Amino acid sequence: SACGANSSDSGGSGSNSASSSAPAAAGGASGKVGVILPETATSARWEAFDKPMLQAALTAQGFEVDIQNAQGDSQKFSTLADGFISSGVKVLIIAPSDPAVGVAVEAKAKTAGIPVIDYDRPSLGGSANYYVSFDNEKVGQLQGQAMADALKSKAGAGFVQIEGAPTDNNATLFTNGQDKVLEPLVSAGTLRRIQKQPINDWDNQLGGTTFEQIFTANGGKVDGVVAANDGLAGAVITVLKRNGLNGKIPVTGQDATADGLMAVMRGDQYMTVFKPIKEEAEATAKLAAALAKGDTAGADAIATGKLHDPKGNRDIKSVLLTPTTILEKDVKTVVTQGYVKAAEICGGD
Ligand code: BGC
Repeated sequence: SACGANSSDSGGSGSNSASSSAPAAAGGASGKVGVILPETATSARWEAFDKPMLQAALTAQGFEVDIQNAQGDSQKFSTLADGFISSGVKVLIIAPSDPAVGVAVEAKAKTAGIPVIDYDRPSLGGSANYYVSFDNEKVGQLQGQAMADALKSKAGAGFVQIEGAPTDNNATLFTNGQDKVLEPLVSAGTLRRIQKQPINDWDNQLGGTTFEQIFTANGGKVDGVVAANDGLAGAVITVLKRNGLNGKIPVTGQDATADGLMAVMRGDQYMTVFKPIKEEAEATAKLAAALAKGDTAGADAIATGKLHDPKGNRDIKSVLLTPTTILEKDVKTVVTQGYVKAAEICGGD
């Protein structure tokens, strides 16, 4: 079981041993790189995975690394970016909570001649040089497929979709991917969509109250909940628990956070989606190193994918990594890959 698995200890949340004062890797980049992460409350991933993994990967490329979190505050985001730009960072790496602020920051960086990498979330309509993320429509397809599988013996079952922030292009892609699988089943009458509701700012608490309203309005008759990430899934499960229905109704998630994995092991959450964030961080660091050297050909060789930006009417050169489904039987793979420690998710038993 997951609780018997050993962590490889290679870049996991507990192995943040690389320090920003480590000597530059031979032939690596030098100079400072600034990273701004979006929030802490919407998903545990940002602090538990992205921060230590970016720190390690960027340090290994020879950078002096400064990683900040804007805590969902647009003003703070721009202030942090202004600081990085005036301190002359070689590359700016941003995952904005509000893409409009991301666009403004990118315009300033461009004027200052600083290349920008959109990290995980794009700022549509902006001028980022590259984008590193996952195949986010695939993330949604995995969630939709899991719900279809979980409800397959329940003809006419009704599901609710609790989605991410409407301003986050990733949330749009998650929904699109879910609908790619679920829409044909709804059209065929195999499943019934009760409601699809985006949640502003990925606010977990709002996700819970919104789900509770839908649940009550439907007389408690909900057969499944497609929740866009583990945070929203946790809020939904809290409501189900109050009604004695946790573990009886499949709920999806995403991010393979410690809380999400524990809910999967308890049977309260049907699945989560594992995204290899270490690979995301390493691809970002390699791109940043190429950009810091002005090696555009090298950067282009890394970013072989593309994301269409309908606002900016362009394709952004991208690295898009592959997500995987984690059911109860798969939890141990997240442990063996070093993302969480068995002790973190196995409690006292
Ligand atoms: C990320 C997800 C995360 C969500 C909320 C999205 O942009 O891709 O991994 O759960 O934001 O933080």
